[in-house]
This record gives sequence, structure tokens and C-alpha cells, in this order.
Amino acid sequence: MPKRLKVANPARCIGCYSCMMACARTWYDTISVKNSRIDIQTKGGIETAYAQIVCHACVDPPCMRACPLGALTKRKGGGVNLNREICDGCGNCMEACLVGAIHLDAEKKAVICKHCGVCTKFCPHDVLEMIEVDDSGEIKVTDTGPVEETGPASPTASHKELYGKEESGEEK
Ligand code: SF4
Ligand code: SF4
Ligand code: SF4
Repeated sequence: MPKRLKVANPARCIGCYSCMMACARTWYDTISVKNSRIDIQTKGGIETAYAQIVCHACVDPPCMRACPLGALTKRKGGGVNLNREICDGCGNCMEACLVGAIHLDAEKKAVICKHCGVCTKFCPHDVLEMIEVDDSGEIKVTDTGPVEETGPASPTASHKELYGKEESGEEK
């Protein structure tokens, strides 16, 4: 059964870039986040939330249709596989991707997620997960969707409720 990447809990992201470094290290043997196939962006300053820009594993991928050289082929379960030898860096796929999930590397080759899932193993907050899909990319019914966010502790919670001790620092 094929799998694909899913942003399961976006609000939990702390922008640590661990996922990006894991991706770059795995596929480019560097830790330069420029080579990552997943991108973490701030939504307007570090005091706001983070956005995870990842391939949505399109079933009928616009990026593939836009490639004039046939460098992209359909991946089982959604998304595409890239043939680097064929790619000439024209950038048509970048323009076609509606979520901005493609960029070019230093050799002018397309950088596109292949849904390997290595990023999920390095995310400390389960923001990312791999889900099983059928060959056509349909999500299996066993996927239960995002985990319910509990949010920050109630502003009315006492110091003791939060930390198990009174504010003085002494255990009661
Ligand atoms: S790279 Fe973009 S267009 Fe291509 S399959 Fe992923 S989300 Fe779809
Ligand atoms: S950059 Fe490469 S993969 Fe993308 S459309 Fe051009 S030739 Fe195809
Ligand atoms: S590893 Fe997880 S928490 Fe860190 S930037 Fe990536 S998605 Fe966000």
C-alpha cells in the first residue's frame, strides 16, 4: 500500500527546521535547507505561526503535465517521480504547482518531494505524518484526520496545575 506525506498538526510546528535538514541530508548529503523538498515558512514574523509547504501528492499532477520533457512521471499513491537526467531546469513545473512545493537546486534540477517520509521521523511534535493511500491516491478510511489540538493550558490554570508546585518553586 503506497503512502504519502500529510501535514497532520500544523499548529504544533515550532519552526525548528529539523524536517528540512533531514530531507536535505538524506537526498543531497548536505544540511543546507536550500536542498530540502519540504519548506517551513513563517506566516509573517517569528511571533506568528509556521506554514509547512509540502507536495500535496496530486492524483493528476499539474507539474507533470507542465513538463515538456517528460521528466516527471506519476507516482503510485499521488505526486510524481523526477528523472534528474532528463530535467533541464526550465521551471515549468514550478509555475504549475499550485502550492509552491517545487524549486530548483544549484544544478538547475527540480527539487520535488518523493514522499519518502524521512522528515516525519525527525519532527519532534508530530506535525508531519505518513498516511496510507490506495494506488490512485485515495486516503484509506482508517486515517482519522488531525489529532485534536488541545491548545495552550488555560490562562486561568494555576502555577501548581501547570508545574506541579507552587510559584515559590517548593514542592507542596
Ligand atoms: S509538486 Fe505540486 S503539482 Fe506536483 S504533485 Fe506535488 S503538489 Fe501537485
Ligand atoms: S524543471 Fe525539469 S521537471 Fe520541471 S518542467 Fe522543467 S524539465 Fe520538467
Ligand atoms: S520538524 Fe516539525 S516542528 Fe520542526 S520545522 Fe519541521 S514540521 Fe515544524
